[in-house]
Amino acid sequence: MSIGIIGAGQLGRMMALAGYPLGLRFTFLDKSEDSPGAQVGDIVLGDFMQAEDIRRLAGQVELLTYDVENVPVEALEAAASGIPVHPGPAILGAAQDRLREKECFARHGIETAPYRSVDSLAELESAVKALGLPAMLKRRRMGYDGRGQQLIRSEAEIAKAWEGLSGAPLILEGFVDFEREVSLIGVRNRSGDTRFYPLSENRHEDGILRLSIAPAADPALQATAEKQLAALMEAHDYAGILTVEYFEKAGRLIANEMAPRVHNSGHWTIEGAATSQFENHLRGILDLPLGSTRPRGVSAMINCLGRMPALEGVIRHEDAHYHDYGKAPRPRRKLGHITVVRDDRASLDAVIDELLPLVKAAEQA
Ligand code: ATP
Ligand code: MG
Ligand code: MG
Repeated sequence: MSIGIIGAGQLGRMMALAGYPLGLRFTFLDKSEDSPGAQVGDIVLGDFMQAEDIRRLAGQVELLTYDVENVPVEALEAAASGIPVHPGPAILGAAQDRLREKECFARHGIETAPYRSVDSLAELESAVKALGLPAMLKRRRMGYDGRGQQLIRSEAEIAKAWEGLSGAPLILEGFVDFEREVSLIGVRNRSGDTRFYPLSENRHEDGILRLSIAPAADPALQATAEKQLAALMEAHDYAGILTVEYFEKAGRLIANEMAPRVHNSGHWTIEGAATSQFENHLRGILDLPLGSTRPRGVSAMINCLGRMPALEGVIRHEDAHYHDYGKAPRPRRKLGHITVVRDDRASLDAVIDELLPLVKAAEQA
């Protein structure tokens, strides 16, 4: 079976690495032979924003999926008339636009921060009046790793935020004074079976994921989040992995955004769960039986940003696993991650306390 992956980033690479033992073959669409995916599969050189290039990939494989969120939905729809495309284009369209995404959450009774759509400075000013400050001004489309958004703390900062982001449709969100951030990763196969990983707790620095710890679940929150993802997946006849990021506040879950793909906050599942999110994504889109999402202990995943720490320093810890995506160093770029799996939270925390400073020291060197 040959699978086409639009985008050859680290997510696609980890998908291919999980798929080889299942007897699958992978062809990626991306711009460079140096992409992380191209190192472990075949590559069609092209631009994943271009319908023509997506069509070329579709002509060479039996099923299409993607590791990037900004694939043009119309191009996917066109490809889907020839071969299966999962997750389906409809939910991707909602996930690409923060306004449509929030409307989609609302349709399923999922709470979000209060928001206003903003297309002019006057609209921004009235949105600030309605929502109060602080508030987050975000581009509706194309943001990731906290890019394309600006915190507005006082009225004096309104004009600067507008200048920094205007030129594209925007949304103003009320600032959520959360206790922590968590995410739920669920998987559904084409026959409608579902599984959910335990909620992970996610810590961000400057808008970029730094650390995930799982399981981080309170059973009541887990049940609430599972119900929400089940409803989203059912309504979209979903296949593959779906992730929803939440703010947790006073025992409530407030949805921030969703990703219809494997997710950075689920990398711990490679070593820390019975079946990884990458393998379960493939099982879901191929309509195979889903694998157990049972955790193997308590796991932490640390992102390596801008510069990798030395291998030896990390795997000196016998429960640490090193993942280097083979990307060129660049400030703040996600180059790899480290996963630690332990039997208990206290000893996990002790290893994090040693490894996190080591990772950060390498980044600043
Ligand atoms: P990702 O890489 O997760 O796709 P992104 O660029 O799409 O990131 P968001 O997830 O919307 O951006 O925001 C990044 C981070 O900024 C959040 O995880 C959270 O820490 C903070 N943040 C975003 N929106 C809000 C908000 N309304 N209130 C409080 N904090 C927020
Ligand atoms: Mg996002
Ligand atoms: Mg996010």
